[in-house]
Amino acid sequence: MKTLKIAIQKSGRLNEKSVEILKNCGLSFENYKSSLISTVTNFPLEILFLRDDDIPEYVQDGIADLGIVGENVITEVNADVEYLQKLGFGKCTLKIAIPNDSEITDISGLEGKAIATSYPVILEKYLQDNNVNAVVRTISGSVEIGPGLGLSDAICDIVSTGGTLKSNGLKPFAEVMKSEAVLIGNKGIELNEDVIELLQRIRSVLRAKE
Ligand code: ATP
Ligand code: ZN
Repeated sequence: MKTLKIAIQKSGRLNEKSVEILKNCGLSFENYKSSLISTVTNFPLEILFLRDDDIPEYVQDGIADLGIVGENVITEVNADVEYLQKLGFGKCTLKIAIPNDSEITDISGLEGKAIATSYPVILEKYLQDNNVNAVVRTISGSVEIGPGLGLSDAICDIVSTGGTLKSNGLKPFAEVMKSEAVLIGNKGIELNEDVIELLQRIRSVLRAKE
């Protein structure tokens, strides 16, 4: 059987928990230092350390067989992958937020307004579903400063505790999408012994945590 490949985030919010769950499955490997690939010494598996944004496409294209990534990223890049298992970490919500003193009171109040986001695809779909025409301004980070700079009337960003919103004078306004880390697989993945064994181990680690 060919060695399986699983893609996980190399550094950032999902890295530690992704490594932890694999280690708890009894897999021995060196954590990411500078090499992109780490070989598991006691299971036919290689771990690819990538930026989270690249993971859905790597799995879709079969460069990796499996991946661990946030649902928000999968939806944003429209990746055609198999959802195998929710992993219970990396929980967050994509929310629209407005300045504390904004006169907007409901979704229709966003009509004609500018919304800054790093998630244009998800936001456009949400606006369409709600019959609102707004201007989506795509920026890659620090969207919270948009309203203060006069760049946008609202933002759409990931919120977990709400602290960042608060410190930028913003308040959550509407919930666009809930997300958590999930295990995904290539659509054509062959459910061979190794894949089944790995899935079973992951599921029993998750059960032990309940
Ligand atoms: P990379 O360098 O890999 O591109 P990143 O900066 O895009 O990393 P992180 O901030 O590490 O991404 O977030 C990774 C994922 O963690 C998010 O896509 C989301 O699914 C999840 N997440 C959970 N809580 C938060 C939060 N408070 N802010 C941002 N992302 C969060
Ligand atoms: Zn990213």
